[in-house]
Amino acid sequence: VTVGLTLSLAACGQSANGAGDGTTKADAKGGLVGIAMPTKSSERWINDGNNMVKEFQAKGYKTDLQYGDNVVENQVAQVENMITKGAKLLVIAAIDGSSLTNVLQKAADAHIPVISYDRLILGTKNVDYYATFDNYKVGVLQGSYIVDKLGLKDGKGPFNIELFAGSPDDNNTKYFFNGAMSVLGPYVDDKKLVVQSGQTSVNQIATLRWDGGLAQSRMDNLLSKSYTAARVDAVLSPYDGISIGIISSLKGVGYGTGRPLPVVTGQDGELASVKSIIAGEQTQTVYKDTRQLAKAAVQMGDALLTGGKPEVNDTSQYDNGVKTVPAQLLQPVSVDKENYRKILVDSGQYTADQLK
Ligand code: BGC
Repeated sequence: VTVGLTLSLAACGQSANGAGDGTTKADAKGGLVGIAMPTKSSERWINDGNNMVKEFQAKGYKTDLQYGDNVVENQVAQVENMITKGAKLLVIAAIDGSSLTNVLQKAADAHIPVISYDRLILGTKNVDYYATFDNYKVGVLQGSYIVDKLGLKDGKGPFNIELFAGSPDDNNTKYFFNGAMSVLGPYVDDKKLVVQSGQTSVNQIATLRWDGGLAQSRMDNLLSKSYTAARVDAVLSPYDGISIGIISSLKGVGYGTGRPLPVVTGQDGELASVKSIIAGEQTQTVYKDTRQLAKAAVQMGDALLTGGKPEVNDTSQYDNGVKTVPAQLLQPVSVDKENYRKILVDSGQYTADQLK
């Protein structure tokens, strides 16, 4: 009996292909895909959602795309609703990585496979695959950009830097920050980079829900407390929306007019930030081609539903606390004034007109 039970449980586990609930794979193939995205307040998620809808529909699926408005309860309710509607697959970019355990148990009970999209879902075995970018490398690209731009390798310095991190409930935040600090840390230790505010721990520098307004107020405080005499030479920013907040704060006290703006990094290649880069304000962004990420997630999802093989290239980095989730990691690219045309216009991400 025990053996039989074990086997049938294992069989259920195997059926994380959406076809284990008595339906056939053919049903799953044209079935409904629930796509839960975190917010429309950032362009990237709008593009991610639209790109996935397009790709899934091209493969014959129906889609239900929902945005949680950065409110955890909304997202949980949206996913619950997708399960009720009979979704055969869920693709989720979590608002809070740890908040989906209960709802994903319901998905598992209904044999619905789950793809974690961009952000790793934490604390549950009920996540099958992960499609994302090399998040550590995003941070390495930001940190390296600051080092190169300031000429630290040529022995220049010391310089003043301030550090910003992303939302503490987003698993990506620590990858971005650790990646950046793997490059910046040695210069901080050597006092070639000085954090005048002394704020270096994640709880001091984190930005809840990646909110640019919060980052702007924190920058205001840093400037009035630590930079009345000193000058800021660089700001590590993990995301374009945060960079825009930081830059308005800096401009508010005269950077960009009397004295040059510091080196400010970013992420996502959002339109406003690319324009800011062209205008000589933000210095860099890390572009992640979300069209490719959508394709990767759709490949995984379609494979799960049709008995194919989801493509992965990492099976060791992304431990969610309960399991290591097999992942497909795409490559981020550093973009600045020198290469934006090649990376963003030639690739069709933006037209030249959009950037005017
Ligand atoms: C994503 C970034 C994005 C940030 C804020 C992160 O999880 O990986 O691309 O900038 O969330 O939306």
